[in-house]
Amino acid sequence: MTQLGFYFNQTRCIGCHTCAVACKDWHDHQEATLNWMQINTIEKGVFPHLFLAFIAVPCYHCEDPSCMAVCPADAISKRAADGIVIVDPDKCLGREGCEKTPCLTACRSKSPQFGPAPDAKMQKCDFCLDRLEEGKQPICVEACPMFALEIYSMENLQQKYGEQKEAEGFRYSKKIRQAAVFTPKPEVFS
Ligand code: SF4
Ligand code: SF4
Repeated sequence: MTQLGFYFNQTRCIGCHTCAVACKDWHDHQEATLNWMQINTIEKGVFPHLFLAFIAVPCYHCEDPSCMAVCPADAISKRAADGIVIVDPDKCLGREGCEKTPCLTACRSKSPQFGPAPDAKMQKCDFCLDRLEEGKQPICVEACPMFALEIYSMENLQQKYGEQKEAEGFRYSKKIRQAAVFTPKPEVFS
């Protein structure tokens, strides 16, 4: 299997949220609660000696997804072709139908999400599968003005950028094995 992965260059990201807005727009997410791409801010130090960085958090399409392991309805699966983790809305029991919605707590990146409707089904970043199938780049990658994002096979990403599995605001898990490569921002205080 060719595992698709997510690349993030933390030294380039300016935290502009263009990727997150582009994602919402492309996937037509009006709801405030739906943010398939999250941009988190990391601040350290005391003025004037500060460190600031951002971390882009889509779904990292883990090699052993914790969300998939806990779903009582087997609604979450990992595609054999590219390793993308997808949700079957017909199988998902929905916010009210699923007693504890364990996928929400199982994912350390808060990637599984529900719209506001009581019977809303779980949804999350799918690496813009619809665009990939048309040979297009995911919309977040295309929209980023700083060229800080890339989605490609893990093998290619590691050849291009090395095997850095962590960055400020992101910790790698040997258990779930998030499919991501990073160029982390060095911790330098102003
Ligand atoms: S890959 Fe697509 S669905 Fe995932 S965060 Fe980027 S724009 Fe959103
Ligand atoms: S669009 Fe690019 S620079 Fe802006 S927040 Fe997203 S990753 Fe960072």
